[in-house]
Amino acid sequence: MILVLDEKITKEQKTEITSLLSDDGCIIREITDAGQNIIGIIAKNKRTAADYEQMKGVADVRSIKTSHKLVSRDFQSEDTLVRIGNVVVGGDRIVVIAGPCAVESHTQAMTIAKEVKRYGAVLFRGGAYKPRSSPYSFQGMEEEGLKILADVREKTGLGVVTEMTSPVQAQLMEKYVDVVQIGARNMQNFELLKCVGKMSKPVVLKRGLASTIQEWLMSAEYIVAGGNKNVILCERGIRTFEPYTRNTLDLSAIPVLKQLTHLPIVIDPSHATGIREKVSPMARAAIAAGADALMIEVHNDPDNALSDGPQSLYPEQFGELTRDLYVIAPVVGKQLDFDYLKKSEVIRQMNGGGKKIAAFIGENGDYSHKASLSYFGDDVTFLPMKSYRDIFNACASGSVEYGVIPVENSLSGSIHENFDLLQEYDLNIIGEVTIRIKHALIAHGDAQKNRIRTILASPPAFFQCKNFMDQFLGVEPQPVKANTSAVRQVKDSGDTTVAAIGSSMAADIFNLKVIEDSIEDNPRNFTRFAIIAKEYKGHKKVSKTSIVFSTGNEPGALFEVMKVFSTHKINLVKLESRPILGKPWEYMFYADLEADILSDTLAPMMAELKDKSEVLRILGRY
Ligand code: PEP
Ligand code: MN
Repeated sequence: MILVLDEKITKEQKTEITSLLSDDGCIIREITDAGQNIIGIIAKNKRTAADYEQMKGVADVRSIKTSHKLVSRDFQSEDTLVRIGNVVVGGDRIVVIAGPCAVESHTQAMTIAKEVKRYGAVLFRGGAYKPRSSPYSFQGMEEEGLKILADVREKTGLGVVTEMTSPVQAQLMEKYVDVVQIGARNMQNFELLKCVGKMSKPVVLKRGLASTIQEWLMSAEYIVAGGNKNVILCERGIRTFEPYTRNTLDLSAIPVLKQLTHLPIVIDPSHATGIREKVSPMARAAIAAGADALMIEVHNDPDNALSDGPQSLYPEQFGELTRDLYVIAPVVGKQLDFDYLKKSEVIRQMNGGGKKIAAFIGENGDYSHKASLSYFGDDVTFLPMKSYRDIFNACASGSVEYGVIPVENSLSGSIHENFDLLQEYDLNIIGEVTIRIKHALIAHGDAQKNRIRTILASPPAFFQCKNFMDQFLGVEPQPVKANTSAVRQVKDSGDTTVAAIGSSMAADIFNLKVIEDSIEDNPRNFTRFAIIAKEYKGHKKVSKTSIVFSTGNEPGALFEVMKVFSTHKINLVKLESRPILGKPWEYMFYADLEADILSDTLAPMMAELKDKSEVLRILGRY
C-alpha cells in the first residue's frame, strides 16, 4: 500500500504515522517519488485502506495490485539508480561489465581487466565460487580468487562483481568485492536471498534457468524486503526447446520489466547464447531494446579457459562490440561513455572536492539538460541558464565549473552563436556528447489527438516536425522560445485541447502524456554538444582536437593549411568559417581534427601549421 503524505504534514503527524505503522509490524519505506513524499508499506492486514485514509497528514492511499510490491513501478515510479563507486547502473550511461567466467590466476585476471577497461568496461566480472553442473569441473579459486579481484580493483580502478553461492561467504564478499551476483541456479535459494538482503553491497540477481518474470521479481522482492534496495536484474537466457543456442535470450523481458519494475536491467548475452559469434549481435540488440547494462564474458585465451571458453569474446572482439554500442546507444537516448571512469575521477579531484556545477541553456527537460545528464550522469549539479553568453560568463568567472553548449545539429547545421562565443572567451572544450533529438507531441492525460486545437513549440521544433504538423489542419501553431517552456505552458493551461512539441523527458517532468513520440520528419536528428570549462586536467588519451585559425588574405592560403593536414594524414571532421568581427570579408576557421595535435609525433605538423596560419588557438583536446 502507498500512503501519499499531505504537502503540509507536520513533523508530529509524520512521527505518529510511522510509529503506528511500525507497531503494526509493517515494512516501511519512505521515498520521494515524482515530487511527492510517500510512505510505502507492506501492511500486516491489521488495518484497511480506509483506516489509513483517516490518519491526519495522509492525503491519499493507493493499493499495489501486483504480488511483488517494493520492486513494483506502482510502488516507485522513478527508476532505481544503483551506485557502484563512480558507476551508476540505470541512468543515461550504459554500464558494461566484462571479464572472464572464472578468476583463474592473478595474471589472467589482471591481463583481461586491463584489456576490457581499455575497450570501455567500467566493472570487472570473474567468478571465485563457480556453481558447475559437474562436481569434477573447476570449482573456482574461492577466497584466493576474491583477493585477486580486490587487487584488480586496486590496480585498475574497476569495481568487481562476483558470484556468491552460500550465506557463509557473506563476510568475505563484504570485504573483497563491490557487487554480489546471485547465479541463475540460486535465484530461488531463499536463504541466500535473505542473506544478501541484509548485505551492504549491490546485488546482480540472475534470472533462473526456467523461471518466469513473476518468480524472478518475487526473488528480487526478498532482497529488497530484507533492506537492500540495490538490486540489478540480469537476464541470461532461459531454457527452451531450442538446442542451437545454450539458452534462449528473452529480450522481451526488457520492455516487460521496464513496465513492471523500477529496478535496472543487465543483459548477459554470453550465458544466453553460449557461442562466441552470437554474443555481439545479442548485445547490440539488448542495448537497442533498452537494457541499462551488459555483462560480457571476455578471455585472453579462451581455448584454454577453465570455464565457458567457447562463449568468451577475444578482447579485440569486445572492443569492436563497444564501438558498435557507442553508435547504437544515442538512438535509444543513451550513451556509451569511453571516458566514464576517468571523467568521474577528474570531476571529484577538481577544485578539491565538493559537488561541481554544470550550466546549460533552457530549463529541466530541455535537450541541453538531457545532454548534460548524458555526459555527467549525477556527478555534478545542473544549473539552467537563460542565454549562451550567460553560460560562458559563468564558466569564465568560475561560478560554475562546466558549460554544456550545442554546437551543431545533423539537420539544421551549426549553432553559430556558440562558435563566436568560443572565439571570444578564453575557455576550453573538454569533451563532447551527441544526443538524438526525438520530439514528442505532449498534452494532458485525458487529451485526445483529434481534439487538439493549439500546438506550442520552438521554431526549430516546428521546422523539424513539418510533415507531422501537416495532419493538423486548422490547428494553430504557436511559436514559443524553447521546447520545455512550451510543455510547461501546456501544463499551466490545464487545457486538454492544447499540446506541445518537446522531449518525452519534459513530459515526465511535468507529468503529462506523450500522445505520439518520434514525430520529427527525419529520425536522423542528432545534436552535438561541447562541454566547456576554464581548466581541465583529465584525458590522457586524446582522440580529438578543436582549433580555430585564420590565414592571410591571399590566394590559396586556406589550401596551404589543408595541405598540412593532408600531408600528415590527419582526418578533418569539421571545418566552419565565421566572419572576424570588425574585419569585413575576413574569416576565422574552426576545425575538428581526429588527432592529438600536441602529441610529440605531430610536432613537425604543428610547426608547419603555425607557419601557415596567422592566428592559431587550440580550443580543446579531448
Ligand atoms: C556466470 O555468470 O558465470 C554464471 C555462472 O552465470 P549463470 O548463473 O547465469 O549461469
Ligand atoms: Mn560463465
